[in-house]
Amino acid sequence: MDGRRMRFETTTGKRRAPRRIRLARTVLFLIVVAAVICVAIWGCGAVGKLIEENASDETANEDIVEDEDAAASPNEEGNDSAPSSASEEAQPDPYARFSALYYYEEERLDRYLQYEAAHPELAPEEVVWRVDVDIDKPFYEDVIEIAASDADSEQTLVNKHFKFSDDFEPAELVQVDGDYRVTPGTKEAYERLRDDAKAAGISIRAASAYRSIDYQVGLYARYLNEDPDNADNYSARPGFSEHHTGRTIDLVGPSGTLRGFVGTKEADWVRENAWNYGFIVRYTVENEDVTGYESEPWHITYIGKEAAALMRVEGIGSLEEYVAKYVRHTPPPLSPQ
Ligand SMILES: [Zn+2]
Repeated sequence: MDGRRMRFETTTGKRRAPRRIRLARTVLFLIVVAAVICVAIWGCGAVGKLIEENASDETANEDIVEDEDAAASPNEEGNDSAPSSASEEAQPDPYARFSALYYYEEERLDRYLQYEAAHPELAPEEVVWRVDVDIDKPFYEDVIEIAASDADSEQTLVNKHFKFSDDFEPAELVQVDGDYRVTPGTKEAYERLRDDAKAAGISIRAASAYRSIDYQVGLYARYLNEDPDNADNYSARPGFSEHHTGRTIDLVGPSGTLRGFVGTKEADWVRENAWNYGFIVRYTVENEDVTGYESEPWHITYIGKEAAALMRVEGIGSLEEYVAKYVRHTPPPLSPQ
């Protein structure tokens, strides 16, 4: 038997832990107490810190919002305040005069530059829409055939760069002013124009309308035979004539001839009022360089009331310009002032 155990038992009458163990228990107790205190303090600190962090997050969010506001302002005002590091690195676009236009096409940049160099009299706005519809190319070179899906559209561009396929015919033609043929929409609009003109004391009638490609073959051959140097200035080659669309009418007044229409009150009335019925005078003195035709005040083309009104309001001088700006591209919505 252990002698020390015997001694404890005799002193207390019951078992008592040795002193070393009691000391260890005390130390353990103190450690636990200290740990509880630490946890309590840390907990409070953590909660406090959490609150602080949340508060600072909200402040940061406010800062971000303010930063966004601050970032937005210079852009709206042309970004002429102190530049950020990003804008210090950004180089100004040397072609901004082109690329700022909504009808700019990046892949045509070389052609814009070439056309601009060849036509220093033209503003960049003019250069871009012209190149967009191939006006920079020589007439009858690199001709593009009009897609079948576009061929019957009211704003189909047919000119010395865009031609119909040899078998194209309008979907439907109806008679007007005798044996002349046009599309149904053209007939309806033309008859209102003609009747309103008559009510205003203006006498006009159709002298030519739809022409088939076969018919144009003979007509062009005749002009070319009679006047080989100038035929292209007033007669379209087969497939390139607007008369194939069924939306074009040549008008005559009391003289009964096309040339006799020039400079008459009938020509004046048509020029001022045709847009109201969805027609445009297709070849004017002002757009001769774009169309490649001498002016023809008798040749009107139905493009729809909306398009004709827009051309009138916007001062758009040719169907080529209209197609570049409103058919091939879509203008951005007007921003509220
Ligand atoms: Zn004509």
